[in-house]
Amino acid sequence: MNALPPLDAHAHLNPARTAAELEAPCAILAMTLSLDEASFAVGRHDPAVAWGVGCHPRKLRAQQAFDEERFRRLVEQTAIAGEIGLDTGCRVPLDLQLRTFRQALAVLTGLPRLVSIHSYQATGLMIEELRRQPVAVPVLHWWTGTAQETREAVALGCYFSVHSAARATASSARRSRPSECWSRAITATPIHRPPFRAASSGWSTWWPNN
Ligand SMILES: [Zn+2]
Repeated sequence: MNALPPLDAHAHLNPARTAAELEAPCAILAMTLSLDEASFAVGRHDPAVAWGVGCHPRKLRAQQAFDEERFRRLVEQTAIAGEIGLDTGCRVPLDLQLRTFRQALAVLTGLPRLVSIHSYQATGLMIEELRRQPVAVPVLHWWTGTAQETREAVALGCYFSVHSAARATASSARRSRPSECWSRAITATPIHRPPFRAASSGWSTWWPNN
């Protein structure tokens, strides 16, 4: 039996690329940044890529345009949701982010999906929201929570998508994070060739709206 291919659990790909351009030596969970991008992506059929439906917390226009029913219709077409979440390190008003995140979680509590969640400078807040509205398979991307928050996340069934930069500092992180975090880590393996870009920054430089 062939070994399973490597997995990149959090990438940003341009859905305007051709299928040939998105051929990859690994399986990719591709996160979108807005419902407009998602509506373009979920209609694709790429053997190695599963497209998520997202609304990134750092994207003001995407947040303003978020619509719960449109999100639901898109999520019903795919197995992945993301990237969604909270970020207090950006200029997008937190009340707007919270409205979007809560509405997205409300949809996802009724649909069993893998959900890639962003929580930059908002780890405690994100955990609080997830506790109110748990989802089937939460995957925390670039997690920076405390040991206590990590235990709470694990108790909520969270996994952690870990990219190469995080792995490089894993030895120091291991000292500050509970071991259960590392036993629930999945990879976000960067692919260093165009049109792919490492997920380390959480952004795609070649997506035209960035
Ligand atoms: Zn991202």
